[in-house]
Amino acid sequence: MIMNATRSLVLPDNIFQTIFEKSPGSLLVKADLPDFTIMAASDAFLSISSIIREDVVGRSFFDVFPTENDPNKTVNTFNIFCEVVKKRKVVEVPDFRFDVYDSFTNKSETHYWSCSNTPIFGADNNVAYILKTVVDITGEIRAKKAAIESGNRLRLVTEAAALATWELELKDQSFTYSPRLVEIFGHSLGTSITLEQIRSQINAEDMKNIIAKAYREALATGNYLYVVRVLWPDGSLHWIKTQGVVIWGEEKRALRMMGTILDITESKSDEIRKNDFIAMASHELKTPLTSIKAYLQMVAKRLNEINDSFVTNAVSKSLYQVNKMADLIHGFLDLSKLESGKLQLNPQNFDINELIDEVIAETDLTSPGTLINFDRNEIVLATADREKIEQVIRNFISNAIKYSDKGSEIAIHCKKTAEDVQVSVTDKGIGIKPKDQERLFQRFYRVESEKMKNIAGFGIGLYLSSEIIQRHKGKIGVQSDENKGATFYFSLPLTT
Ligand code: ADP
Repeated sequence: MIMNATRSLVLPDNIFQTIFEKSPGSLLVKADLPDFTIMAASDAFLSISSIIREDVVGRSFFDVFPTENDPNKTVNTFNIFCEVVKKRKVVEVPDFRFDVYDSFTNKSETHYWSCSNTPIFGADNNVAYILKTVVDITGEIRAKKAAIESGNRLRLVTEAAALATWELELKDQSFTYSPRLVEIFGHSLGTSITLEQIRSQINAEDMKNIIAKAYREALATGNYLYVVRVLWPDGSLHWIKTQGVVIWGEEKRALRMMGTILDITESKSDEIRKNDFIAMASHELKTPLTSIKAYLQMVAKRLNEINDSFVTNAVSKSLYQVNKMADLIHGFLDLSKLESGKLQLNPQNFDINELIDEVIAETDLTSPGTLINFDRNEIVLATADREKIEQVIRNFISNAIKYSDKGSEIAIHCKKTAEDVQVSVTDKGIGIKPKDQERLFQRFYRVESEKMKNIAGFGIGLYLSSEIIQRHKGKIGVQSDENKGATFYFSLPLTT
């Protein structure tokens, strides 16, 4: 009879025997040195060891398993049993590999095991028995191996791509990184750097404008992305691109961020060279084009007196083409100014209605036959860069013409509210799908569709318009249904 010490509950011996026999991988040996007689063995233990109960119970452990007392083996079970008896404490054995024969598949399979030996005390408070427990840990070992392997693979891939990986714990700002990271910041491999050092090497303006914004967006969207300038200890300037994700905890609390960093100095230098070239070429083209335009306008005026319809038509078409080219060149020039941070605003007070009238008059000249309805309001005075706002309105109107059937109506509205000035241009053209609407204001974005194939463009007009309006602290947007036309609008805050 075995007593349950905590509640003095008495259970029949055969219940304990059954429990023991059904327990995973257990063997009970008597502490009768040097025999260590086997008292009981669980079904699982017998199955692992390929033995039957009747052959082992009552026999010395080392008779049944003679190799367990091999003095040359690193793990000697006889010594371990003696240690349990002497130290009266649990003795763990290092995890080991032991192949198990599977009678179903007729094959022996590799398994990994963990083993511990627990003393069980008798009435005289001496170790009376030792409970040997063997647990199959093959699943854990395999999972650990797979994790190490996939970690190694990831390391190889990131190293091949010259990427560095990093992880930032948001609570205590602890920062860990792969060895490549220090090289990206201009230090030799093996140096250790702190997050503060890294931050001090990032261009101060980029830190304030770009990183702060990217960080805010990451906490809202889960994705972290930015490109910034970095100053190396040797004084050279580099560009880095960081991409990452936010790991969330309970109640959508941001716990940590992790991602990659890449040195993109080479491709950035190419981009800068390309932008410089476009800026230079556009600048050189602007002067001759301006004088061609001026001459054509003079010729157009004189033609009114002669009344030659062919020449009038030819001059108007030439003017249209020249204007298109001038718009393009201005676009490229603005784009390069924008990218190099040189786009300046020259604010002045002006009446937006008047400006819209001017753009409509020019459109009548360059795209005769366009039906434009202007719903003007009271005099709407704005404080903004007149030329840049003109560019936005021209972009809206020329797109409305470009993406509609010839002669279809275009409606312009201008109104003043308590806070702002609102201008909208509505057409009845091809319209835009909702999924494209979000991306129209991105650089070089053009909708891809059958209808668009024959309409030329570079996808910079709306990008520039959006930058111009944002710099005025205004809003820009679109409302559209595919095939039912579109309304592009912007608003400018009223200065008090
Ligand atoms: P571009 O017209 O030179 O391609 P924009 O930046 O002005 O460049 O316009 C970007 C894209 O937005 C266009 O390519 C077109 O797909 C779409 N888009 C602009 N305006 C309209 C409009 N009024 N109707 C339909 N699609 C438009």
